[in-house]
Amino acid sequence: MKSVNIIGAGIAGLSAGCYLQMNGYKTRIFELHNMPGGLCCAWERGNYTFEGCIHWLVGSHPKSTFYPMWNELIDMKKQKFYDHEIYATAYDENNNSISFYTDVDKLESELLQKAPEDQDFIKAFIKSIRKMSGLKMDPAKARELMNFWDRIKMMFAFIPYMSDINKWNKKTSEVAESIHNPLLKKAIYNSFDPDMAFIFMIFTLAWMNNKEAGYPIGGSLALARQIEKRYLDLGGELHYHNRIEKIPTERENGKEKAKGVVTSKGEEFPADITISAADGHDTLFHMLDGNFMDERKKHFYDHQITFPSYFQVSLGVNRDLSNQNNMQLFPLKKPIRFDPETEHDLLGMRIMNEDPGLSPEGKSMIILLIPCRNHEYWVKLRKEKLEQYKTEKVRIANEVIEAVDHWLGDIKSKVEEIDVSTPATVIRYTNNWKGSYEGWIMTPEIGMKPLEKTLPGLKDFYMIGQWIEPGGGLPTALKSGRDVVQMICKKDRKKFRSDHF
Ligand SMILES: Cc1cc2nc3c(=O)[nH]c(=O)nc-3n(C[C@H](O)[C@H](O)[C@H](O)COP(=O)(O)OP(=O)(O)OC[C@H]3O[C@@H](n4cnc5c(N)ncnc54)[C@H](O)[C@@H]3O)c2cc1C
Repeated sequence: MKSVNIIGAGIAGLSAGCYLQMNGYKTRIFELHNMPGGLCCAWERGNYTFEGCIHWLVGSHPKSTFYPMWNELIDMKKQKFYDHEIYATAYDENNNSISFYTDVDKLESELLQKAPEDQDFIKAFIKSIRKMSGLKMDPAKARELMNFWDRIKMMFAFIPYMSDINKWNKKTSEVAESIHNPLLKKAIYNSFDPDMAFIFMIFTLAWMNNKEAGYPIGGSLALARQIEKRYLDLGGELHYHNRIEKIPTERENGKEKAKGVVTSKGEEFPADITISAADGHDTLFHMLDGNFMDERKKHFYDHQITFPSYFQVSLGVNRDLSNQNNMQLFPLKKPIRFDPETEHDLLGMRIMNEDPGLSPEGKSMIILLIPCRNHEYWVKLRKEKLEQYKTEKVRIANEVIEAVDHWLGDIKSKVEEIDVSTPATVIRYTNNWKGSYEGWIMTPEIGMKPLEKTLPGLKDFYMIGQWIEPGGGLPTALKSGRDVVQMICKKDRKKFRSDHF
């Protein structure tokens, strides 16, 4: 039986582990943290479980093409999902609002009513959401293993959608620029990232319109724990608190071969095959000393834009906020300066009404995710001036609470749990490059075309996860882990098998 070492117990690493176990490999996962999930996480403060990740999970509906895959890792019949009525509501300083309904008909009437001056944009936008709601991608076969006929089939499936894809394959900021209504302009600009191709906003709204992108009740950590259990039940071995420092290689038949992994404690674990489901930059430039690079990866690490890092301010509030909209984008009375290079004049706030079980009865959880590209500042501050770092976190909490209090009213005196995570926290717990929350941004130039999972000149080594699949996300992490096992099985002349619940 061949042995496989996997670095990282995020969703990609756990997924690869499960499918390898299903296919008769002996696997070990090494994870630097003491829990599964990577970015798909949550943490407890008092009686609150502060949600750290999932807003929606593509594949939540039985008709979704991703559903059967999730059902291989978790028991989907037992998993409950919540479908949001509204994706997000944007407000201006006079409390005017625009809600992005997930139902496309409701969205159309809301947008036409609130921003009639943008009728042309709205009609085209809605038409494309309706159209994209019909697109069915078949994720079951690894793209790397597709033959000529698979590619032709895929091409034909996409043909009816190509004109819409091309139409919106431009930067979100460019689309926002063309909008006249100031509130709609602001909402679109802040919908994801200004550099991201706008077509992905349309995909997301199409999935929501189909009710195939629900929120899994229990949240991110509960989901990760279910996949961890699946992996352990399949006979996998999990080694928490194990940071991998090196992937030793050895010359074999004229080619370098990955020999296993070495932990930060200096322990060496040999294996026939090594998979890194950890951060891409750390894998390539630290664990492998920059020795194995292809041109495309080099280009990405030199030039490509990543999703930013972020602060997460989490508040446990002794107040029932179930009458509030779930996602709110609201303006600030005066901008908040988070660090010398990060200032915001509006905040995105999530009131977690969809999962009351994460807060004590009658109480509420508010989560604010605040983008930040100044990760170096926070890492340095924490390393060199820990007291000042802590004071800054308190200042940020106070200023954000003040802003939420001003916006919702009667919050300040009701806050009973506070947690602030910074880009330094994201790096410390997940080791993601620049503290990025989702890896590479799908810009109009690169779309979602994956990077190579193998490296030139290195045998028996693979990379998976959000640094290989632009756009990142949980279904992609699951598929990345599944696809690499198909590749390994093919190489070993085995028929890939997958078991479901
Ligand atoms: C706030 C937020 C909201 C999000 N919302 C959604 C959403 O609604 N829907 C969605 O689909 N996606 C969402 N995402 C994105 C999604 O969570 C990620 O793209 C996905 O979890 C990435 O999985 P991964 O396994 O590729 O990487 P990671 O989750 O980063 O896992 C990598 C693992 O490797 C470990 N590791 C790193 N280096 C080492 C080392 N040297 N040795 C040992 N272990 C190591 C890390 O600790 C980590 O556990 C969100 C992300 C964030 C942060």
